[in-house]
Amino acid sequence: MAYDRSNVFAKILRGEIPCNKVYEDELTLAFHDINPQAPVHVLVIPKGEYVSMDDFAANASEAEIAALFRSVRTVAKMLGVAESGWRMLANIGEHSGQEVPHLHIHIFGGRPLGPMLVRH
Ligand code: AMP
Repeated sequence: MAYDRSNVFAKILRGEIPCNKVYEDELTLAFHDINPQAPVHVLVIPKGEYVSMDDFAANASEAEIAALFRSVRTVAKMLGVAESGWRMLANIGEHSGQEVPHLHIHIFGGRPLGPMLVRH
């Protein structure tokens, strides 16, 4: 899938719409999810144009990959969930329900998070 520059996170990165920023460095940005599903719900994104984790793992530089995972850890510590525990999640493609086609890692925490998946 080609990267779509009209996606909402691309607009945030260009400063066209605001975000509630938690952390930023040269290669990554982290901000609060607009519709939080846990007391802590933050999204960490690379600044580069990657549709998903599949695209990112295939095409990002070593520096970009390292920066994203370091940022995830930094944000978890900043938000005070490093000790109590937290969950990271990345939706990839149709069956996952990915809504925004710019890679984002969700960080959830602040309460016991329950089972990983809803059982049907
Ligand atoms: P996903 O379903 O994994 O693609 O998750 C997309 C997430 O982006 C959802 O949790 C949304 O609540 C969140 N989201 C959508 N628009 C914004 C926005 N403008 N600022 C912050 N979070 C957003």
